[in-house]
Amino acid sequence: MNEIKFLDPLIRSFEKLPGVGQKTATRYAFQVVEKLSEEDVEEFARILLETKQNIKHCSICNILTTTDICDICDNELREKDKILVVKDTKDVISLEKTKQYNGLYHVLGGLISPLDGVGPDELAINELENRCKDLNIKEVIIATSLTPQGETTALYLEKILKREGLEITRIGYGIPAGGDIEYADELTLRKALSSRIKL
Ligand code: ZN
Repeated sequence: MNEIKFLDPLIRSFEKLPGVGQKTATRYAFQVVEKLSEEDVEEFARILLETKQNIKHCSICNILTTTDICDICDNELREKDKILVVKDTKDVISLEKTKQYNGLYHVLGGLISPLDGVGPDELAINELENRCKDLNIKEVIIATSLTPQGETTALYLEKILKREGLEITRIGYGIPAGGDIEYADELTLRKALSSRIKL
């Protein structure tokens, strides 16, 4: 069945998504050509491109946003003396759902992982360091995962951010070792936030 080769570029595109192997990608490709209308496909393609082009990073905290400064940084009612440090924007969404935290965030864009060639320079750590020099910042809460990469990152941040008058804390209680914030349930996250430990 040579004509199936026509689907290969589409299958390879789907395979770029996390959790999508060849089998699933092939199913998606067949769905697109056999079940979706041309209008559906057109809209899908347009939304993909528009979303990708319109999304940028907040110039202060690095959260994904469509504006130069995100809604959280721009919100007068948020406590401006606390910064909660996370790996990515997905973590912010999980933490916001708990409605337990009203401070600011900082998105690193990954975790330090020497084996994968990711050092501090590849992440938004410099920006965090600069934000923490502001003496109005009283607490930095590190919420990286309890994985080797998460721990390495937390230790590194503690070392470089340390200064008089800045409390550095870590959340972790209840989040299983090796666990990621995005997979923790709301109750666990709420407990983790309210019982942070001083580093
Ligand atoms: Zn922001």
